[in-house]
This record gives sequence, structure tokens and C-alpha cells, in this order.
Amino acid sequence: PRKFFVGGNWKMNGDKKSLGELIHTLNGAKLSADTEVVCGAPSIYLDFARQKLDAKIGVAAQNCYKVPKGAFTGEISPAMIKDIGAAWVILGHSERRHVFGESDELIGQKVAHALAEGLGVIACIGEKLDEREAGITEKVVFEQTKAIADNVKDWSKVVLAYEPVWAIGTGKTATPQQVLVSLKMEQGSVTGANCKELASQHDVDGFLVGGASLKPEFVDIINAKH
Ligand code: 13P
Repeated sequence: PRKFFVGGNWKMNGDKKSLGELIHTLNGAKLSADTEVVCGAPSIYLDFARQKLDAKIGVAAQNCYKVPKGAFTGEISPAMIKDIGAAWVILGHSERRHVFGESDELIGQKVAHALAEGLGVIACIGEKLDEREAGITEKVVFEQTKAIADNVKDWSKVVLAYEPVWAIGTGKTATPQQVLVSLKMEQGSVTGANCKELASQHDVDGFLVGGASLKPEFVDIINAKH
């Protein structure tokens, strides 16, 4: 089985000072060697994070484009992410899908290119509240997953993160039952207070953490399994 996986998604938060302090805390903490840890930094701080974080902690970009280079103002490529020494990218996050309008098709193309370039991919899926209430959770999550899966040949570098959109950023946590949706997957709003119970669920093999990944309690979440 895969190592327990804990991703931190800093989203568009922090500055050199606060992220530097967070990195200092992470570097100084005792982290379970049985857990793989990856921090998702804003693109402008990727190089900073990679240079400052201990090598045992991975660094992810929060997005990338589907081709190596060219006239795509504002975008970054997997080649650039690799060039500064980071090895991961988060793709298909619900904020990319719903704030920036990324389609399943585009996300699939990005997954294909990032994997071809040798990055690890944290691929996100999850239904919105209205979709859950309309009873189409499985359809939505299936289609999102298929668009990703059709572009994956080797799953060893892919982490599938299930984040029900209604649980993100609200402080609401999916119940353990809601987390158990047939795939082995990571899930939404995780905190220092609930991480141990969630980590003990049979089919939970990791977390993708937003808000709490910016706080010292991220250390407790990393160590939740052990
Ligand atoms: P929160 O942990 O802040 O709910 O965010 C979850 C998330 O979107 C991680 O990618």
C-alpha cells in the first residue's frame, strides 16, 4: 500500500515572513517517517519553499499548464516546476475548476503533460453541494476521475484527492462515512482536532489540507496516523 500521504495546500496565502516561519516549524518538528508530506506553495514562492524546506518534505505547485513553454502569459510549466527542484503539482483543485472554470478535459491534458514530464500529480476531484443535493455525486466524481484516469498509465506518481467542495474552507468536515466513497482517497477539511479519527478510518490513506496546513497544527496532522 501507499505510504500515508499528507498534502498541505497553502492556496493564495502567506508571505515570505509567515511561510518562512511555517517552514522553520516544519523543519524543526519530528515528522513520522511513514508519512509522505508535500506542501503546495503559491508559484511565486515555489523556489523559496523548495530552498528552505527540508528535502524530506516535498513541494508542489498548485497548478501548471499543459505544454512545456510558449505564449501563455501568467502560466507555469512542469519543466519550470522541475527546474526549481519541486517534484509535484496539484491539478484539478475545485478552486481551479469552479473559480477559474477549468474543464475535466483541460485537467486531463494537464495531468498527462505533468506526468510525461515526470512530476508527481495530486489530482483533485469532488462534488459541489448542489450536485450532492441533486443526487449526482457519483456521476460527477466518476466523470472527473475518468478524465484524469484516461491520462494516467502509471499510478505510482498520482495521488487522487477527494475533496467534496461543500467541505472545503467551511470548517465542515466530511463524516468518515462520506469519506468512504469506494476509492482509496484523501479528503477535505482536516484539522488538528479531527485528524486522528479520520486517519484511523480504514479507507482513508491521506489528507489534502487547506487552512490548517498554514498553522503549526499541520505537524499534528502529518503525525495523525502514527
Ligand atoms: P480546507 O482544509 O481549508 O477546508 O481546504 C481544503 C482544500 O481545499 C485543500 O486543497
